[in-house]
Amino acid sequence: MSKKIRIGRTDLVVNPIGLGANAIGGHNLYPEIDEQVNRTLLKTAFNEGLDFIDTAFTYGMGRSEEIIGEVVKELGNRQEVIIATKGTQKLIDGETIVDNSPEYLRETVDASLKRLQTDYIDLFYIHFPDKNTPKYEAVGALKELKDAGKIRAIGVSNFSQEQLIEANQDGYVDVLQGHYNLLNRQAEKDLFPYTIEHGISFVPYFPFASGLLAGRYTKKTTFNDFRANMPHFQGEAFEQNLQKVETLKEIANAKQTEVSNIVLAWYLAQPAIDTVIPGAKKPEQVIQNLKTLDVQLSKDEIETIDRTFS
Ligand code: NAP
Repeated sequence: MSKKIRIGRTDLVVNPIGLGANAIGGHNLYPEIDEQVNRTLLKTAFNEGLDFIDTAFTYGMGRSEEIIGEVVKELGNRQEVIIATKGTQKLIDGETIVDNSPEYLRETVDASLKRLQTDYIDLFYIHFPDKNTPKYEAVGALKELKDAGKIRAIGVSNFSQEQLIEANQDGYVDVLQGHYNLLNRQAEKDLFPYTIEHGISFVPYFPFASGLLAGRYTKKTTFNDFRANMPHFQGEAFEQNLQKVETLKEIANAKQTEVSNIVLAWYLAQPAIDTVIPGAKKPEQVIQNLKTLDVQLSKDEIETIDRTFS
């Protein structure tokens, strides 16, 4: 099934099932990724009607953007693809510094444009807030870049409600990206009331809680990347989370679909959310996630999931 939606009040129109690209070239996050598989995955995704890619400088310190730029150039489909990227971290003597200053934002946008081999970025996010820059000033710099045609929409990420309100002082913030999934629903209280009231589209990151909610892990699954240290993946918490995923499996089985599709459909049923950006390491995962568009959850199913994970 093919479907297009507009992201908030922007002029970006996309398939609501996007792709989170931190495993595309993100060697610093996932040591075992293979760039050849990354390229095949991107081509499969575009071929299957996916057109919304979420990347960032920090995914492979520019490598993710470079690979996306190369594949899009090879396919010649720049106008059909909506590319979101993020910047704010810079490396100084091996240390990562977060910088939201207007000068640095201008510099990092130019560097992303170069790596992506494009002359515009569809959606540019301030990846993390810094300590010093007034947030409206940082967003003001992005508004100038928008007026100059270098970016088409303005995003902020990992902002608290207070930082978001300050950032949106002049009403320029189009999208907020934040940590949200069935195992971490704090944003419903802290952020959704403001984003809904102000027409800001919320993009949830870690929609599968880094794979845990995608329905494929068992008690015996082990991890050799950053997940080995994440609380959701530890001992009793891991087992309890897998137990909750069993409820999703029952709903998925009854609908002849997969847990991953049920989870993504549940997010898309939320008024605050227009799009999802699940990550993927294999082309089959992208194909499976795109099948979410065929899933219609009933009110009862939405409520059962809500209760199971509340
Ligand atoms: P995620 O979407 O919660 O989980 C992705 C993982 O789930 C995949 O790498 C894969 O892992 C598994 N998976 C995906 N589809 C599947 C399917 N159909 N069946 C079974 N397993 C499946 O985690 P994420 O990729 O870290 O987060 C999503 C995106 O959010 C990122 O790619 C990035 O673009 C963005 N993000 C942004 C921030 C920020 O600060 N703004 C922070 C984190 C992430 P396995 O193959 O290992 O099982």
